Amino acid sequence: MKQADLKDLRKLADSRREERSHDRKVLDFDWAGSVITALVSGHGHRYNVRIKLGEGRTYKCSCPDHAKRGRFGPCKHTLLVSRHALANGSATSKKPDTDQA
Ligand SMILES: [Zn+2]
Repeated sequence: MKQADLKDLRKLADSRREERSHDRKVLDFDWAGSVITALVSGHGHRYNVRIKLGEGRTYKCSCPDHAKRGRFGPCKHTLLVSRHALANGSATSKKPDTDQA
């Protein structure tokens, strides 16, 4: 169910954003219940991502891309976090993203 939510979210993404998400890193990752929070680094910035799964699914990122275009689809940080979540499951993990998905 939650996995499906994440896959759904990724379907909203355009492939260019997906590509650009690959040079970012998940620094911190926490999945508690239906809420995923993570800290993502890239190009000298750090952004906070929060994804709420299930009914009324929402996603939020502190980056300028999300502020401008978040309502049209998830930003690259949100995508990266969703990929990380799919790869690592719901166990709370502080491991760095090895990106084997
Ligand atoms: Zn973002």
